[in-house]
Amino acid sequence: MLTYNLHTHTKRCNHATGDDREYVEAAIRAGMKTLGFSDHCPQFFPVKDYYSYFRMLPEQAQEYSESVRALQKEYKSDIDILLGFETEYYPQTFDAFYDFVRPLHLDYLIMGQHFVGNEYDEGSYYAAIEGKKEDYLSQYVRQVKEGLRKGVFTYLAHPDIVWYSGDPGYYTLKMTELCLFARERDIPLEFNLLGYLNGRSYPTPAFWDIVARVGNKVVIGYDAHSPEALLQSDAAQHCLGLLAAKGITPVSIEEITLRNEKL
Ligand SMILES: [Zn+2]
Ligand SMILES: [Zn+2]
Repeated sequence: MLTYNLHTHTKRCNHATGDDREYVEAAIRAGMKTLGFSDHCPQFFPVKDYYSYFRMLPEQAQEYSESVRALQKEYKSDIDILLGFETEYYPQTFDAFYDFVRPLHLDYLIMGQHFVGNEYDEGSYYAAIEGKKEDYLSQYVRQVKEGLRKGVFTYLAHPDIVWYSGDPGYYTLKMTELCLFARERDIPLEFNLLGYLNGRSYPTPAFWDIVARVGNKVVIGYDAHSPEALLQSDAAQHCLGLLAAKGITPVSIEEITLRNEKL
């Protein structure tokens, strides 16, 4: 059974449903001991006419933080609640992002690189659309490494989000590079339950063979976009079985470095 989930969204991101409290109650019902909220973080694009529709607005962050902190207090005898964000690493917006999140005193951040580039600019195509070739994969790996080097991320969400259809040998080469990098820095990689349940291109079996070989720390993330998603313990159990068949056991929450001192 999974006793924690650090990948939880809220309705503020425009594509999730339910009240914050319902997520907490679902997690308790599912027998979880820790629930981390990691909604899509605001970003600060240097152009006025770009609207990033899948994340909360900067002016919602304070209310998000207060809501999660209030639930943390209220439910403290039932479950540990953590406040975080999921975000991409965009070279052009990282400094503004970092200045924005620091005063919020988050418990953690997870990195989920849905785009390469800076999202709003030329060449920033969504990663999980079919047909990505060598150049995209290489940019993805370069950018993820650059982001992880910042030292603020607790783990890497859906590391295999790129829907790749180039040469398999190149995939092995680049993803091995990524996995080795994460292992050296003790950054866990997430097996994404939402991708699994929705039949997305990720989790990618070839990627998890590499993870097994490299020996990374692994977590399972529900990537919950509704409270009910947290109740899918059968699916989670099935994923534990898939990972076990590759010789992978997800780590316990104690083995994950939370409350990063840079936050
Ligand atoms: Zn989302
Ligand atoms: Zn997510």
